Amino acid sequence: MAPSPPDVCRFAPSTTGQAHLGTLTAALLCWLDARARGARLLLRLEDLDPDRCRPEHARSILDDLTWLGLDWDATVEQRALAPQHEAALDHLAAQGALYPCTASREDLRALGRRAPDGGFAYDNRSRGRPLPPGGWRASRDPLRVALPAGTFSPADEGGLDLSQDPSLALGDPVVRRRDGAIAYQLAVVVDDAAAHVTRIVRGRDIAPSTATQAALQTLLGLPTPRYRHHLLLLEARGGKLAKTHLSPRGATLGLTAPRLCGQLAWCVGLLPEPEDCTPADLLRTFDWTRVTPVDQVVSWQDGKLHATPADG
Ligand code: GLU
Repeated sequence: MAPSPPDVCRFAPSTTGQAHLGTLTAALLCWLDARARGARLLLRLEDLDPDRCRPEHARSILDDLTWLGLDWDATVEQRALAPQHEAALDHLAAQGALYPCTASREDLRALGRRAPDGGFAYDNRSRGRPLPPGGWRASRDPLRVALPAGTFSPADEGGLDLSQDPSLALGDPVVRRRDGAIAYQLAVVVDDAAAHVTRIVRGRDIAPSTATQAALQTLLGLPTPRYRHHLLLLEARGGKLAKTHLSPRGATLGLTAPRLCGQLAWCVGLLPEPEDCTPADLLRTFDWTRVTPVDQVVSWQDGKLHATPADG
């Protein structure tokens, strides 16, 4: 029997701000996972949001990842995939699944039903509204896609239960914004398929979107990759670290890359004590069973990362 082709993995930071410690931790785990299995690793710069994405953030993220000692086999800019995004919208329109919807964030809030991703669910009330005569390209309203009803249960290698009926739990997702930008849920499935990604390692904050992504993969006839969602670093008030928190630049924190790498590795459970190391050092003994599944609340004091389990 021919050996199975190597996995294709990707790390996909949004270029909405500088990398922070959460970004670097996610990148380190993704890199260790990919390199430990001899996979091809892509870096995809998620740069579709014209209001928030900036080329200088993309550059600084690339610099920070390289500074930490990570490498990858190819860099993809999401905006270069516009023809694939358009083809996907054509495909969805041909199935009659696309519809314009003007519901705002405030409207969803007024509907009052919490969604598993922490936002508010949409109740699919505009389903069936026709596209304008000129088709989806002519729409001045955001476009949503009517998801197939039913439960989607993509597997999570770390044992998270990702089962959900996304058409009810979150409602039909926006796939094209009012300003014409392609929305994350559509872009991510199209881009992963275009790059033949077989394995996705990412933070647990995105786990509630996975069933939506599996439903879109089904509608578009795309394969569903394997998933693993890992722990998050949280800030003291319990929120996910944001771009403004704990920017990792050695210059900012006054650290060398091996010092920071060791602190991050300790924080996720890969080292019993923080000690200087490179990502390549960690690769020798990397194993997911050594990575804690528990989110960590982190703060930075006296030149050291402090971490406590979020549920402790
Ligand atoms: N761009 C997303 C982020 O920075 C990640 C998307 C994904 O991994 O699917 O959180």
